[in-house]
Amino acid sequence: MDFLWSPEQEQIRQAIERVCAPFDADYWLERDREGGFPHAFHQALAEAGWLGIAMPEAFGGAGLGIGEAALMMHTIAATGAGLSGASAVHMNIFGLHPVVVFGSQEQKQRWLPPLIAGKDQACFGVTEPDAGLNTLKLKTRAVRDGGHYVVHGQKVWISTAQVANKILLLARTKAVEESSGTEGLSLFYTDLDRSTVEVREIDKLGRKCVDSNQVFIDGLRIPVEDRVGEEDKGFSYILHGLNPERILIAAEAVGLGRAALARATQYAKERVVFERPIGMNQGIQHPLAQAWMGLEAAHLMVQKAAFLYDKGLPCAAEANAAKFLAAEACAKACETAIFTHGGMGYAKEYHVERYMRESWIPRLAPVSPQMILNFIAEKVLGLPRSY
Ligand SMILES: Cc1cc2nc3c(=O)[nH]c(=O)nc-3n(C[C@H](O)[C@H](O)[C@H](O)COP(=O)(O)OP(=O)(O)OC[C@H]3O[C@@H](n4cnc5c(N)ncnc54)[C@H](O)[C@@H]3O)c2cc1C
Repeated sequence: MDFLWSPEQEQIRQAIERVCAPFDADYWLERDREGGFPHAFHQALAEAGWLGIAMPEAFGGAGLGIGEAALMMHTIAATGAGLSGASAVHMNIFGLHPVVVFGSQEQKQRWLPPLIAGKDQACFGVTEPDAGLNTLKLKTRAVRDGGHYVVHGQKVWISTAQVANKILLLARTKAVEESSGTEGLSLFYTDLDRSTVEVREIDKLGRKCVDSNQVFIDGLRIPVEDRVGEEDKGFSYILHGLNPERILIAAEAVGLGRAALARATQYAKERVVFERPIGMNQGIQHPLAQAWMGLEAAHLMVQKAAFLYDKGLPCAAEANAAKFLAAEACAKACETAIFTHGGMGYAKEYHVERYMRESWIPRLAPVSPQMILNFIAEKVLGLPRSY
């Protein structure tokens, strides 16, 4: 067992910090106030070659594992870019994993290099208003018409759809009644053709600069060449990407929590009340110490899950646990950071209220804490399925 970063991993951390350095707290505060996708940040990471960190070398990526990708995303969030920074590139890092595993050589050659270069931006179209977490009940319908599929339906919460030119779309190719098990849904990676797709931004709690949207699809024509793998098998392809995605968002949550803890600790050292720094009070120290422990423990689970994934071993329990623990530890650290700042914790210029708003994202998405508890209870503890 080895808990230390390798020299290569340490280099990754330092290199990411260098790319992130010009995008300081004021940059993210302005993005949070004004909105507007952080194109400059996305481009800086693309130009330095980081968007392909986990993509195959044959297509211009670095061919590294989820461990390194998680380190990258953790570092981005921990610099204070938080979820605003991480979400701006999140989809590039592992979102196209189903394409890497199940796409043809021709598709990978067509799709991966522009994504790695930052020329293409992809969004991930799964969630629907009526299906919620019950993905097998998706209604968006893709009907074959010669060399095309014609799609009608609705998606919700689709992040970056304002700026993306591509969508990884899960749609029904067989009616629910005719589908057995996980079959009946197909996966497409295609142009987000705005003449048939309307994208309406959702006004939301945080991460204003990375949009999330309602998406109305009315007659989108998808060439058959843009279907990933076999028809009706899309759900099983998506499943392959779920564990890495949970690991990445967990790493981002730990990074965000550490950014909040760093600001709170600094403030506790500097702020003097009753003629001494507030950090001399155990009432301030102990919650900070506890937040540190929570984040450290969660990070160990992130690293374990990433290690198992990169070794090709089962990691669903660990990936889910990492996502749950990291999100909760992050939320606790952000809340503690606000308390530490007192009234100033509520002021935007101290940044921690922004972190707290962003900490809700890894708690709620891409899967809820309740569903993770259901999963662990059923699949790890062997208890009866509760739903
Ligand atoms: C900021 C943000 C960005 C997002 N980006 C994307 C994106 O890019 N692409 C995309 O496809 N989706 C995206 N999502 C959607 C996200 O994945 C879903 O919101 C999430 O999966 C939960 O689904 P839902 O909101 O429909 O909740 P619902 O399914 O409506 O569930 C509501 C609540 O009920 C609970 N619940 C339901 N059934 C059970 C049960 N059996 N046992 C216990 N509790 C239960 C849930 O845990 C949850 O708390 C995003 C969401 C957010 C907030």
